[in-house]
Amino acid sequence: MARDDPASPPFMNQSLSIEERVADLLKQLTLDEKFSLCAGRNLWSTKPVDRLGVRGFRMVDGPNGLGAILSAFKKGTYFPASVCRTATWNPDLSRQFGVALAQEVRSIGYQMVLAPAINIDRTPLGGRTFEYQTEDPHLNRRMAVAVVQGIQSQRVASCVKHFACNNQETNRAKVSSQVSERALQEIYLQAFEAVVREAGAWSVMAAYNKVNGTYCCESHDLLTERLRNEWGFKGFVVSDWYAARPATSTESCVNAGLSLEMPGGGSIYSEKALRAAFEAGKFTEDLLDRNLAGLLRVMFLVGLFDDEKTLPPSSRNTAEHQALARKIAEEGIVLLKNERDILPLDAERIKKIAVLGSNANKKMGLKGGSSMVRPPYEVTPLVGLRERCGEKVEIVKSPAEADAAIIFAGLSQGLLKGVDTEGEDKEDLDLPTDQVAIIKGAARTNPRTIVVLINGSPVTMEGWLEKVPAVVEAWYAGQEAGHAIAAVLFGDVNPSGKLPLTFPRKLSDSPAHVSDRTFPGGNEVWYDEGIFVGYRHFDTRRIEPLFPFGHGLSYTKFAYENLMIDGMKISLDVSNVGNRAGAEVVQLYMGDPVSSVQRPLKELKGFEKVYLEPGQKRTVTFTLTDEDLSFWDEGTRRWASEAGEFDILVGSSSRDIRLQGVFEHAK
Ligand code: BGC
Repeated sequence: MARDDPASPPFMNQSLSIEERVADLLKQLTLDEKFSLCAGRNLWSTKPVDRLGVRGFRMVDGPNGLGAILSAFKKGTYFPASVCRTATWNPDLSRQFGVALAQEVRSIGYQMVLAPAINIDRTPLGGRTFEYQTEDPHLNRRMAVAVVQGIQSQRVASCVKHFACNNQETNRAKVSSQVSERALQEIYLQAFEAVVREAGAWSVMAAYNKVNGTYCCESHDLLTERLRNEWGFKGFVVSDWYAARPATSTESCVNAGLSLEMPGGGSIYSEKALRAAFEAGKFTEDLLDRNLAGLLRVMFLVGLFDDEKTLPPSSRNTAEHQALARKIAEEGIVLLKNERDILPLDAERIKKIAVLGSNANKKMGLKGGSSMVRPPYEVTPLVGLRERCGEKVEIVKSPAEADAAIIFAGLSQGLLKGVDTEGEDKEDLDLPTDQVAIIKGAARTNPRTIVVLINGSPVTMEGWLEKVPAVVEAWYAGQEAGHAIAAVLFGDVNPSGKLPLTFPRKLSDSPAHVSDRTFPGGNEVWYDEGIFVGYRHFDTRRIEPLFPFGHGLSYTKFAYENLMIDGMKISLDVSNVGNRAGAEVVQLYMGDPVSSVQRPLKELKGFEKVYLEPGQKRTVTFTLTDEDLSFWDEGTRRWASEAGEFDILVGSSSRDIRLQGVFEHAK
């Protein structure tokens, strides 16, 4: 149907508002055509309505770059895994990632990306921890909002997932996450709400699991009351792949507000099932229209009916995207330990490096489940080191004869049990024993043994941490991982990443691991820890973590001074007192020691990444809002802030508080 044809229906008229175009298209669709739009045609597209020129709306994974499943011949930039991107604590890099991702999605003719994945890291065993962002709701929302804004600035839809409380892989298609309203409000729904309210997310994916006894795909509470009515969501909800199948009935999904069942071929939203339920009076056409209006609206927003030439440009695997992948990796790598300033390595003085460990030369892009990416190339750590060292440094195998030994240990992303992957949680937190043996062996013969971890979730370091002077958390850092790691090890880049999640000393220290009921549960998993997730638990219960939330060292030093608390305005000066340029993530935590309910010892309420030359000083200002002071009051079912004193804690990590003050809140 031509856009400029005077006989074209109003929905093709670009001068009308989207609301008018949606209303017109709904009017033109027959009931059967509406039914046909409620389920996929195949794995990655909706059904077209040829009569009206409605093309299939196409979607692709995922959180770490263009999904590999359908891009065998269309390679995409493999960006650092979300946990690494989040470790940058740099929302602007998240935004840039969103922009690049959307350009790649458009380049293969698709309109929606199934990203970002923003479930809270409740357990360090979570198989998708690498794909998710963090244990903290504030960091989660800041990074998620930026990704969604970036994606949608390119007129590509972001499908935010997995709504809600899909915090484990074990039994994910059956388990009910039993969670209090306070924990939903303060922890698990925060980022979902923010992407809707602040970034206007166009799509949300309903998770596999149940929340408090109801499957997400048929939860009126989640999909209508909260998402649409409270947060003002105007887009559409799609089921996670096959997630609608166990729902009680077709009508329960329609009435709950599920717009689209994916992939095609399911029985919940088959045309036959929809017609039968409709004819039996189980749902109204108005409600069906409401669900579909969100989908049609997004079709207009992404330009499905527009002339391709008028849409934002597409690109894939460009030098810019590759440079961005590298930048995110460089900023996301976390220096966990650096005794005797063993790092950075001095390329002038080091003649031989021993490189060992099973992850030294392993590619990770095509692993880990639906978020896997098929990159045009992947620079492994070994290749990156070789390139960085050139002729000057010899790479050898034996630690005893080298000036420094680098062990690339960590996990893997295969489809085996016990690795970082969708579909399975890890069984324990330990590094594989053969890797521990390599680390210990190297440390015995070489005092300059550096461990670089390649993994997407916390590991324990029992028995070896104290034996090595330096540990670097390099995550799954994308196709430029090797370059970024070498740049950090040799000091071309000063590390500035900070942990987005706590590394516990042992699994049983972790709040979700009190009993089988709290993890993995059976058909129910009980979130008995309530709001005490991550560092909220470790701090409040005074449990010493292995490495705390927000931790990350630098090759320079930062000084904090002049904390000023002026009403809701908090400011301080941070300066670089070392002799290298570097970036510090200034973290603002708040505590409410006297309260009518138990509150965490401290909670992150603001952060800013500050780049400073040696000797440079900057003033950082945060403005608190009433929301920052509030907790969810289970009694009144509202947010409440109480008068009194609040602790203001500013630091370089959640356990490295440099400035402290008190804020007086008068109501
Ligand atoms: C995953 C989603 C993914 C979808 C499509 C599901 O198994 O949970 O995150 O987007 O598959 O690949």
